[in-house]
Amino acid sequence: MSFASDAKIVIDSLIDFYDESFNQSKKVTNLIPMEDLIEDLSLGSFLTEGGLTNEKLSEFMTKYLSHSTRLHHPSFIGHQCAVSHYSAALGSLIDAFTNNVTSIYEMGPSAVSIEFFTINWMLEKVGWIPAPANLNSNNGLKNFGGGVFVNGGSFGNLTALLVARNKIAPEVWATGNPSDLALLVSSESHYSVVKSAGILGIGKNSIYQLETDSNGKILPEKIPATLNRLLNDGKRPIALVANACSTSVGIYDPLDEIAEFCKENKIWFHIDGAHGASALLSDKYKKCLKGIEKADSLVWDAHKLLQTPSLCAAFLVKEHYNLDTAMDHDASYLFHEREQQGIDFIQRTIECTKSGLGVKLFFVLASIGEKGLQEFIDKQYDLAIQSYNFIKEQKDFECPVFPRSNILCFRIKGTDNTQLKIRNQMVNEGSFYLTSTEFKGKRFLRMVFISPNTKIQDIHELIEQVREINFEINK
Ligand SMILES: *Cc1c(COP(=O)(O)O)cnc(C)c1O
Repeated sequence: MSFASDAKIVIDSLIDFYDESFNQSKKVTNLIPMEDLIEDLSLGSFLTEGGLTNEKLSEFMTKYLSHSTRLHHPSFIGHQCAVSHYSAALGSLIDAFTNNVTSIYEMGPSAVSIEFFTINWMLEKVGWIPAPANLNSNNGLKNFGGGVFVNGGSFGNLTALLVARNKIAPEVWATGNPSDLALLVSSESHYSVVKSAGILGIGKNSIYQLETDSNGKILPEKIPATLNRLLNDGKRPIALVANACSTSVGIYDPLDEIAEFCKENKIWFHIDGAHGASALLSDKYKKCLKGIEKADSLVWDAHKLLQTPSLCAAFLVKEHYNLDTAMDHDASYLFHEREQQGIDFIQRTIECTKSGLGVKLFFVLASIGEKGLQEFIDKQYDLAIQSYNFIKEQKDFECPVFPRSNILCFRIKGTDNTQLKIRNQMVNEGSFYLTSTEFKGKRFLRMVFISPNTKIQDIHELIEQVREINFEINK
């Protein structure tokens, strides 16, 4: 048993896994009943006897990977999960082995420095002021941005609402929630926003949904009426949450106009850019995010469009102070002389122990450069438009909206149930891994172009297969 030989076994099997996915000699999914898989992987005997090394490790890897979803496969057009770049995966391994907790600088100086540096890089992309590396000598510079990596966009949204609530009702920490807190959210917002509101004790009845157009985009001219309704109910809005982009069909809200409204009405503006904020790296597509710098906070997942393994989500604020004081009212020590070196992230998150999330992102960034990521995003967004143009020509298919990101929804003429049956059959056969979503009361098939290996020819093939399955089930 040795680290070197076992590591070689693992890496060799991952290389095979990649090659089989890339050249499509294996299917994208290989679903079998769970009870059979528990048996097949010999989980019980490893538990009692141990011995996951050498030959047994090699056998185990083969079985494990043969029932793993192949994200690098051209037929993976499923969930919004990054297709890991191998460099980022190595970053993950380094982080796992060193296990340097990033909550405090002294526990993981390299990992914390990378988190600080990478967060600053993201702040600059948004158009916010990066934080100085030495807070003790910041010369009174107060309005710089701040951020932290958290374990997912959902956690980021929860943190955002917490920060926004603290701004309007800091007494919460002593006396609990007042009963008049409310939220303005897009009717197309991710379910984690409503869930976060629930966790924070802001009931469902205090969530005021903003009207959207046929594309699912917030209608700015309708916001005042919704705000008036909220105020007439005797409530106070803690924040307005917009999408960049929406989860279902990938549409960006008009951020610039919404920002103006929030500024006039002194409402915290949070942008849920979990999926689509990565377009900031693209010269071609960053116009979707016009006005993003006018927001107060932003969630931006690296584990979606930045080829970074789960999880690595940035929660960013325009003014660091709002984050640094949101969960710790005595955070003043941050801004005074202190004896320890570096910066601690612990007061910025709900979590205590936290891994080196930024290391994974930094590794892909340092491997292919900003330019590599930019080209990747351009290519994936372009592919959505190409696919849209192709599907539009097919008389028996329709798309609900023109794509503004790498997400594209479509359906074959027929019932909602037909769409679901087609998807189920494809996933069970392993021909394509795609999802489905409901949008404006109708069921659609949904593609997320996240694998760098998917090409337009794969989408031609997909449409042909959808037709064939549709023909079969209607026979
Ligand atoms: C994916 C997504 C989330 C949730 O992020 P996780 O990292 O999966 O927790 C939230 N909002 C939007 C708009 C998303 O696309």
